[in-house]
Amino acid sequence: MTVNIELNKQARLSQHLASPSEAALGHLSELNGSRLSPHFTLGELCKTSVNSLDGNIPSHVDIENLKRLCPWLEDLRFTYNSLYCLKPGEDYETSKNVEPIIITSGYRSPEVNRCVGGAYSSNHLTGCAVDIRCTGVEQAIRYAAILLDMADDRQEDFDELLIERNRKGHYWVHFAVRPKDNRRKVLLIDKR
Ligand SMILES: [Zn+2]
Repeated sequence: MTVNIELNKQARLSQHLASPSEAALGHLSELNGSRLSPHFTLGELCKTSVNSLDGNIPSHVDIENLKRLCPWLEDLRFTYNSLYCLKPGEDYETSKNVEPIIITSGYRSPEVNRCVGGAYSSNHLTGCAVDIRCTGVEQAIRYAAILLDMADDRQEDFDELLIERNRKGHYWVHFAVRPKDNRRKVLLIDKR
């Protein structure tokens, strides 16, 4: 006997669980592995150290916003490596000298954002922002300069480009692009 179960894909289990068919049926890990662009997966852009009850699951709209960031991240990866990592004549796709762009935080559910002390209107809540790990201030400045040049070249605006430092002296670049009303806010934020 065959039993057909009709899933209502429009049903919302909660504000941020817009895709119950995927999440509730345990396909989340499959979803995490899905590529948003050649070098970035959904899992990378949703990872968090917080063990939240809501699972930090983005809605389809949040995923669209994360996707909008990926061309910037791909270009940053390519340009940074071309300028600072690859030896002359080395191939970008196969060289062992290529350095990844490491995202420490992308999409954050309200619970995750609260736990990490994020701003209440943070661009992370909508998947419009990523934090990019930096080895130090020098790398942060290089990343920021590349992203600024990229905005000029593309004639596209970003919402925020922040070089941040925490109390432990760790640096990261917070970069955000919204679907519209981008403010091109550039700031240094020192939390010491
Ligand atoms: Zn951030």
